[in-house]
Amino acid sequence: MSGILYLVATPIGNLEDMTYRAVRILSEVDLIAAEDTRNSIRLLNHFEIKTPMTSYHEFNKYDKAKVLVDKLLEGKNIAVITDAGTPGISDPGEELVKQSLEAGITVTSVPGACAAVSALITSGLPTRRFAFEAFLPHDKKEKARILEELKEETRTIIIYEAPHRLKKTLALLFDVLGDRKITLTRELTKKHETIEQTTFSEAISHYEENEPRGEYVIVIAGMDVAAMQAEQRAEYEAMTVEEHVAMYLEQGMSKKEAIRQAATDRGVPKRDIYNVVERKER
Ligand code: SAM
Repeated sequence: MSGILYLVATPIGNLEDMTYRAVRILSEVDLIAAEDTRNSIRLLNHFEIKTPMTSYHEFNKYDKAKVLVDKLLEGKNIAVITDAGTPGISDPGEELVKQSLEAGITVTSVPGACAAVSALITSGLPTRRFAFEAFLPHDKKEKARILEELKEETRTIIIYEAPHRLKKTLALLFDVLGDRKITLTRELTKKHETIEQTTFSEAISHYEENEPRGEYVIVIAGMDVAAMQAEQRAEYEAMTVEEHVAMYLEQGMSKKEAIRQAATDRGVPKRDIYNVVERKER
């Protein structure tokens, strides 16, 4: 019979966040696949876990997954742990899960810490709907494409960032999304945890004076549709009806289309616009 693949969450800073079940499973499995064995040995020693370890990381994830799947097929139980948090969330793990499921192996989770979830629930921003973006891609084109998508994202957005790229990323997000409410969470669950409800512009000024240190999650308020519509409506209402219709005529619309569009923009019946335009023309 095949073994089981366990995805075991480990603490993101505070060792007390290790679960009883994580300790038991890590002690009982035949092998632990760890992202960085030198890093994980400290965790295993702390909890007196003696299970052998092998490395499974970003750069060997395809080939090593095959080796691990073979062991699972032989009946070995394997646990995956990463440097911190939940395996598969911006961590290797995804590929091994895919290959294991394809081979008919049972995959299960041992849940625990995840920086994205801790950041979201402490952010004070809406938690019902959210979009997890992980790290923005390095590739310029890909990054531009994702940022363009995020412009109109109405859900709360969660982004991971390393300290040495934080300033650049905040500036970029400010340029594309405009000033928004954000919550900058840092060093979650650790001694120097900070959870700052701020805005892009305030955070950018703050980090002009202070060097970013530690691990960050940026939680960003989604686009506020009601506020955008109110702003847009106010812009339209600042124009006279004639100016409004003329704007669309200049853009190449027919008179009928321009009247319909101006009516939609102003939230009034077409006839109201028509009457004003007709009166002018008489
Ligand atoms: N799998 C992990 C999880 O479940 O959260 C995430 C791993 S990802 C390689 C590392 C990133 O997670 C960091 O760059 C940071 O953005 C975020 N992170 C991890 N631990 C954190 C912490 N204690 N406080 C804030 N952010 C953290």
